[in-house]
Amino acid sequence: MDALAVIEAGDAGTLRRSSQETIAALRQVAGAVDAVAFGEAPERLADEVGACGAERLWVLSGPAFLTKSPDLWAQGLADAIRRLAPKSVAWPGTAWGKDLATRVAGVLDAGLADDVVAWEQDQEGIVAVRPVFGGKIRERVRVLGSPALFTVRPGAFAVQREAVRSARVEMISVAVQAEPEVRVTGVEAAAHQAAELTDARMIVAGGRGLGGPEHFRLVEELAAALGAAVGASRPVVEEGWVPHAYHVGQTGKIVAPDLYIAVGISGAVQHVAGILGSKCIVAINHDPSAPIFDVADYGIVGDLFQIVPALTAAIRQFKGATE
Ligand SMILES: Cc1cc2nc3c(=O)[nH]c(=O)nc-3n(C[C@H](O)[C@H](O)[C@H](O)COP(=O)(O)OP(=O)(O)OC[C@H]3O[C@@H](n4cnc5c(N)ncnc54)[C@H](O)[C@@H]3O)c2cc1C
Repeated sequence: MDALAVIEAGDAGTLRRSSQETIAALRQVAGAVDAVAFGEAPERLADEVGACGAERLWVLSGPAFLTKSPDLWAQGLADAIRRLAPKSVAWPGTAWGKDLATRVAGVLDAGLADDVVAWEQDQEGIVAVRPVFGGKIRERVRVLGSPALFTVRPGAFAVQREAVRSARVEMISVAVQAEPEVRVTGVEAAAHQAAELTDARMIVAGGRGLGGPEHFRLVEELAAALGAAVGASRPVVEEGWVPHAYHVGQTGKIVAPDLYIAVGISGAVQHVAGILGSKCIVAINHDPSAPIFDVADYGIVGDLFQIVPALTAAIRQFKGATE
């Protein structure tokens, strides 16, 4: 095996899109790609992992993986990586993947290139391409030493599915001696969110232009009509209008849906850095000079309090007519 993709199941127990993309990314630069997973019965992902082109699915077991302690997971995963000795290891660039990748890099004392969006190859091997300065510059990074660790930006690589083929499941038992530095005392499901933002195909996001938390329902109703996930700009999250899980942008979630609708969002560079992978951006803003229009594919200049309810009603009517 040349490369190992660390993968994650979504809430529905299926392979998350960002994990599928991680396998696709590694397949561009590695001959043979395996996947590794842990958690609740990860072997059920073998069909999906195989369809994405991975040869084997390594299932990690051991006391470390019965806890929810990220530092014990990292120790266990690092042990498995030492034993499997891949040249490259990649994680999806989700909050989960980034947290784990940086911890494993620390345990293995290995180099990590974060947020990879493309690869180049030269005589010396792989060069990772990653956006920096809010996407204004693309940096080319070579990770020295082996294994080279990467996180893959969600939405940057297209999933390649093959004829149905199951990955061979291999068990690997990992012993971890260390005491956890982090103990998770409880886990709560995020409220009101249909899909994880980094996996969502459609997102409706609200900004400070909504004027107050009582108006955020306009965004939620439009999202519900479309079947989209809900996002927000950072001030909206910081003001406590919506949970932190909704935060989109450079310091929040990097998203790449097919459709991103920005409602009352000015388009500051830090917000735009998180949405540039979107296939189609629609902006609703009453200020025609708002920078969001520089990146929008479609712009609606006007008052969101008139436009959003009208759009929601039109979508509901259209869906009602076609269902
Ligand atoms: C280090 C750093 C990191 C940051 N990271 C992030 C990040 O990850 N994500 C992020 O979002 N921000 C981030 N920010 C903040 C960022 O700089 C902006 O301040 C923020 O994105 C602005 O949020 P907004 O567009 O919701 O609000 P505003 O900039 O206040 O824009 C509101 C918009 O709504 C429009 N509007 C008002 N009323 C109406 C109406 N009735 N109808 C239609 N339009 C209306 C206005 O014309 C305006 O364009 C970061 C800042 C820093 C310094």
